[in-house]
Amino acid sequence: MNIAVVGTGYVGLVSGTCFAEMGNQVTCVDIDAGKVDSLRDGRLTIYEPGLEVYFDRGRREDRLRFTTSLAEALEEAEVVFLALPTPPAEDGSADLQYVLGVADDIGGLLAANPDWGYKVLVDKSTVPVGTSRRVTDAVEAHGLTAGEHFDVVSNPEFLREGVAVDDFMKPERVVVGTSSEKAGEVMTRLYEPFVRQGNPILLMDEESAEMTKYAANSLLAAKITFMNEIANLCERVGADVDEVRRGIGTDSRIGPKFLYAGIGFGGSCFPKDVQALHRTAREEGYSFEILDAVLRVNDEQRKSLIPRIVEALSDDGRLDGKTIGMWGLAFKPHTDDVREAPAHVLIRELTALGADVVAFDPEAVETTKATFEREPLSGDGALAYAESAYEAADGADALVVATEWPEFRRPDLTRVRRSMTGDAPLVFDGRNVFDPQDMADAGFTYHSIGRPHVP
Ligand code: NAD
Repeated sequence: MNIAVVGTGYVGLVSGTCFAEMGNQVTCVDIDAGKVDSLRDGRLTIYEPGLEVYFDRGRREDRLRFTTSLAEALEEAEVVFLALPTPPAEDGSADLQYVLGVADDIGGLLAANPDWGYKVLVDKSTVPVGTSRRVTDAVEAHGLTAGEHFDVVSNPEFLREGVAVDDFMKPERVVVGTSSEKAGEVMTRLYEPFVRQGNPILLMDEESAEMTKYAANSLLAAKITFMNEIANLCERVGADVDEVRRGIGTDSRIGPKFLYAGIGFGGSCFPKDVQALHRTAREEGYSFEILDAVLRVNDEQRKSLIPRIVEALSDDGRLDGKTIGMWGLAFKPHTDDVREAPAHVLIRELTALGADVVAFDPEAVETTKATFEREPLSGDGALAYAESAYEAADGADALVVATEWPEFRRPDLTRVRRSMTGDAPLVFDGRNVFDPQDMADAGFTYHSIGRPHVP
């Protein structure tokens, strides 16, 4: 099939590349000319495990092309995916300017080129309930008719950064929201090769598909947040959240996933999607109490190590002259994405208190530099980058683990301890990657989330 993907970020690039791997002819469009140049030259613009092999093959066999011209991509396409940003607006709602702007452009192009034929326009972005209708209206405003010239489908994406290629190639389910039988058939034909193991393609109406995505992300965010609150309580009553996790995760009604306590969720999806659903509820006059709590608790959780670090290192509440090593910048392992990363929240707080931070991340240093160039740090402390985890710990008064990259799990602890200051150097493990007893045995003063302190 001939496919256009508009927006070549994490979702668009992975989707486009995977559709090409399945034998489709794919053209990816982006307004960022630098990004398009780089992709045309064979340089990936994101870090995503496993993507490069398919990307190289798609380009080599000319099934995967990149352009800045929407018209060029649209002309031959049977299916047009919108994988555009939907960032939070000031009031927390999803900002639809990119999606509706491109819908308007598509309407204009289709109206001017009636010989391009019927197109299925697919919302892959995470968009509030009612957006399919608004996209349809934006295209129909050019004198076109839904059902005849085009149809709009809601097809939310559930891939997880870090395992996005696997998730896309073998989705647990594909949600297709459309009231058009014709569009439903096109989508089924497109996705059938991805669900050969029997996972379902769930056809439903547009509104339910749009709500499904928000419900999924909000429930997952609530699950993590619930566990973080259990962890906070475990610390107070002397229980161990890891034991509790095993105790409840074996209950099939609960399941073992998404029960790991830590310094809160981040990323480009959970915070904004929970906010957007909360906002949708408010607009409907409904107060979605759980989401309110999830947002508040997560904000606190991301900063929860700060008072502990201050208490351990300072008498006056300031951290001037202190150096904090930080392991991890990405919002989770196996990605270079730092949007809403808890590590960034900690860096802002620590440097505001005067501390110098020396950070290491295997993939997310460049994206971090770009973020702090756009939105500079405001405190007295400085941020520097290390070439390795050991270098970040070297000379540090405390070490913070902010992302659970596998390489942080089994370091040479003797080397780390010797390189840090103090007789029993401080480690604040925001992701519970270490065993408290091992850390005590290795000579550290070790803090983690929801687990008893081992003296
Ligand atoms: P992103 O910011 O990485 O990518 C968006 C791309 O769109 C950018 O490359 C940008 O240059 C491009 N763009 C902006 N305006 C454009 C225009 N007018 N024409 C062409 N290109 C344009 O965003 P993302 O992470 O890929 O997310 C896209 C959508 O998918 C969002 O709604 C997000 O919530 C949703 N989503 C994201 C994930 C994820 O893990 N990142 C997972 C599921 C769903």
